[in-house]
Amino acid sequence: MLFGGSNPCPSPSPLCPICGSEPETPEHLLFFCPWSAAVWLSSALSCKVGRLDVRRVDLWLFEVLCESDALDDRAQSLVAFLCWFIWKGRCLFVFENKPLDPILTKRLAEKACDEYFSTVSKGAKPCEPGSSCQTSQSGAGIGVLFRNHLGVVLDGCCLTVDASSSLMVEALAVRHAVLALSDLKWDGVCIESDCAALVRAISSGLPVGDWACDTIVEDIRVLSRNFRRISFSWVNRQCNLAADWLAKAAVWRMCPSGWVSSPPSSLASLLALDACGIRSGVG
Ligand SMILES: [Zn+2]
Repeated sequence: MLFGGSNPCPSPSPLCPICGSEPETPEHLLFFCPWSAAVWLSSALSCKVGRLDVRRVDLWLFEVLCESDALDDRAQSLVAFLCWFIWKGRCLFVFENKPLDPILTKRLAEKACDEYFSTVSKGAKPCEPGSSCQTSQSGAGIGVLFRNHLGVVLDGCCLTVDASSSLMVEALAVRHAVLALSDLKWDGVCIESDCAALVRAISSGLPVGDWACDTIVEDIRVLSRNFRRISFSWVNRQCNLAADWLAKAAVWRMCPSGWVSSPPSSLASLLALDACGIRSGVG
């Protein structure tokens, strides 16, 4: 479905240069023009933004992006990318005579959103007993897996945390694991992290240079005294794929209940892969 494509040009007219049916207000441009409405409807959000919902675009965006918790981080990001690509499509139509294509526009917005989250996840580093963490600008997820000495997953969890850096998320993940292991009254445990700096800091007691992280590391060291035997070791991230899956699921709020006993197929395959690389002393 393409819109326009014939004789678009900048015009002093206040009417929308695309549909010509009403003034080109920011609200009309982004939401009510037939082509932009088609973008929203065909997107992953699959929504029709009503005129009563958006009286002023700045107030609407503030409410959706800052005040409301109706949308998760990813959906909020997609809102922003859709607005940006609708504006870009409009400018290409007006100034370069490029036809408007709602499907292409929503694909470009969703691709940009995916790339944004992919970039964010690359900045995060997983941690501990088969646990890992993922950070984003507005939040972070951690995943923790508890295995026995045979590598069998006995329990686990995933949750979101507030943190100012990926190192802090990793430290929070390790602290969460230590607290959980203490509650479970397990002993003789090995906590694995793929964050060498964190493992080094816990083992050496030397500061990591971030006072907030140093406080968490000190917590971990104090909590560790409750165990007769506990160790912290570095592990390759490739041995931590299932926990990484959990961390992402936490950020996306998509972790299924009962995943320990009945993991979804995508997680089950990662658990099997992790199990192939199981090291002695885990869990
Ligand atoms: Zn229009």
